[in-house]
Amino acid sequence: MIERTRVVVAGAGPVGGVLAYRLAEMGIDVVLIEPTHYPAEDMRASTFHPPTLSMMQELGVLDELLADGLKAPVYQYRNRRSGHVISLDLGDIADLTPYPFRLQCEQYKLARILTARLANHKHGRVLFQHRLLSYEQDADGVTVHVETPLAIDHFRCDYLIGADGASSTVRKWLDIEFDGFTYPERFLTLSTAYPIHEHYEGLANVSYMSDAQEWCVLLRVPKLWRVLVPSQLDESETDLLSDAKKTAVFAGLVPDGEAIETYHRTLYRVHQRVARNFRRGRVVLVGDAAHLNNPLGGFGMNSGIHDAWNLSTKLGEIMLGGGDAEALLDHYERQRRTIANEFVQAQTIKNKQAMEAPAGDGPSPQELKMDELAADLDMRRHYMAQQAMLHSLEREAEIA
Ligand SMILES: Cc1cc2nc3c(=O)[nH]c(=O)nc-3n(C[C@H](O)[C@H](O)[C@H](O)COP(=O)(O)OP(=O)(O)OC[C@H]3O[C@@H](n4cnc5c(N)ncnc54)[C@H](O)[C@@H]3O)c2cc1C
Repeated sequence: MIERTRVVVAGAGPVGGVLAYRLAEMGIDVVLIEPTHYPAEDMRASTFHPPTLSMMQELGVLDELLADGLKAPVYQYRNRRSGHVISLDLGDIADLTPYPFRLQCEQYKLARILTARLANHKHGRVLFQHRLLSYEQDADGVTVHVETPLAIDHFRCDYLIGADGASSTVRKWLDIEFDGFTYPERFLTLSTAYPIHEHYEGLANVSYMSDAQEWCVLLRVPKLWRVLVPSQLDESETDLLSDAKKTAVFAGLVPDGEAIETYHRTLYRVHQRVARNFRRGRVVLVGDAAHLNNPLGGFGMNSGIHDAWNLSTKLGEIMLGGGDAEALLDHYERQRRTIANEFVQAQTIKNKQAMEAPAGDGPSPQELKMDELAADLDMRRHYMAQQAMLHSLEREAEIA
């Protein structure tokens, strides 16, 4: 039997969750399929930028997220060698956003809120333990084949959305090139309940520590500190996940690295890639399925949510307002692919270079730039609005 719905979204990560729930809220029938049992407690994104918080407010989930997160109105750049600290306060751009802070909240919390809401929605269904296998499209719709624990199920829909992450099956079946590169080093994240902030005066909840030897990012979420460091090229996976590595990383941050107990240790390959097309016909890509970037700046999930926002608006215009589907979906691709290339790729590559402060005694180029920002309010406001992704959405609106 083939089940009929209007939209199938593959992948219940934060991006698929936002897209599916927003469509259901518009009154469009949607089925969200996800191979796992439940959104996994995953230590990837933890930073929500101000414009994403505005979207969450419009979606009606902001209060729940705020209750589950930690506000970070200030973020810092610290030089591990010199101890030099520069603090940037989003209060300086409080006239540009109702939310002048980053919210530190793990991405799985959003995925869980949205799947719970969707499961009780009259226009939504969430099917865990359902994996998209393949699909065919024709002029009138898409037929989707889904593996479940008991059988292969089939759905017929107007649109299939691939929100199925970095190794997207939807992208692979479309045979779309994923242009870009993969960094040779991997990124290691370690999390601990240890109060790292007690060892640094005024440590902000988001702190970037540049260094020629080993840069590091310290990110606080409600119950944990997360530490992100790059691997050295000769370190094996076993070395990187070992207690010796854990002790060495924390010994550079607090007096007794050995005593630190970790809650998670995860290793990631890091890519800079953008799909050559974001759609073919009635099948459309969003989030990590469409673009990947390093996590410095916290743009991956946020830009994926911005894709979902843009696309759900256009699907609403098509399905509820009789809008021109070809024109609107092409517009989605032009807008969001341009932002992925011009802003997300370019800025994350620069952000990573800034962390790799050159060796030597003098101030690094990053420190000199930050000193200039600290001294000039207009420059600082411009920089913060850019890093808060406000400019990328203004630019998106300009793309015809
Ligand atoms: C260390 C690290 C830190 C990061 N920090 C940040 C940050 O602070 N801020 C930020 O914005 N971004 C950050 N990112 C990036 C962010 O995690 C991703 O951009 C984000 O998870 C993308 O969301 P998504 O929903 O597109 O994909 P995912 O979260 O990967 O979700 C994809 C979903 O699709 C499902 N799926 C897979 N195959 C199928 C299939 N065949 N059928 C159906 N479903 C399928 C998966 O099970 C998964 O649930 C970070 C990344 C890393 C590695």
